[in-house]
Amino acid sequence: MPEGLWHNCPECKSTIHEVDMKQRFRVCPTCDFHFTMTSGERIEMLVDPGSFEEIDAKLESVDALGFKSYTDKVKGYQQKTGLRDAVVSGRAEISGYPVTLAVMDFRFLGASMGSVAGEKITRAIEMATAEGRASIVVCASGGARMHEGILSLMQMAKTSGALARHAEAGLPYIPILTHPTTGGVTASFATLGDVILAEPKCMIGFAGPRVVKETTHQDLPKGFQTAEFMMEHGLVDLIVSRSELRDQLSRLLKFMLIKGRGTAGAAA
Ligand SMILES: [Zn+2]
Repeated sequence: MPEGLWHNCPECKSTIHEVDMKQRFRVCPTCDFHFTMTSGERIEMLVDPGSFEEIDAKLESVDALGFKSYTDKVKGYQQKTGLRDAVVSGRAEISGYPVTLAVMDFRFLGASMGSVAGEKITRAIEMATAEGRASIVVCASGGARMHEGILSLMQMAKTSGALARHAEAGLPYIPILTHPTTGGVTASFATLGDVILAEPKCMIGFAGPRVVKETTHQDLPKGFQTAEFMMEHGLVDLIVSRSELRDQLSRLLKFMLIKGRGTAGAAA
């Protein structure tokens, strides 16, 4: 068999063919384990065929702090992934409803949030506000990008500000939390949704479990930092299996947006 056509499930150890993986949106048919998806696969899975128009495709990080080998690192990931940075964003339609969609791609430096990732998400939200669209962000991140220091942390305030203005305009925002969503992303736009969706069993947290344990001097509860735990404790509204995501988004948009004339909230 040619290499690269078979995948091993890390959860149940079964072997899955690439064709099955594709058909099932990279979910294990035996145990429902959700494999990582690329931003391209996510977009294809979520939006109406042919409706995605990418924006800000050329934004690139600069090495503002003179951080050792940062420029080379970014170039390396660009070559490896074909992306310019960790977020792909654009206009799209989902079941005919107008949205902007920003997708974080974990392959690019752990989808860490630097100034480009933050800027692209902010612009996608602002475009949604200006054009009466819903804003959707597929979140996955190892946290703020340390190579850009405070500039990375500022993205938390910038994205949150854009979301506040989007909410004031009466427009919906739906984040989709995927494995893993951590750090500054969890502490800003990932958890500011009108409805917060998460994929089954994905890890959601701020600091890692070891840091939390050492800081609080307490044993951590079972299932700590899973989507299921977060739903039980009110941080997540719905856990949605990948095959259901598109339909679930359509249903939510039907409640929250009026096709072709801005929003229910803005019209009221
Ligand atoms: Zn499995």
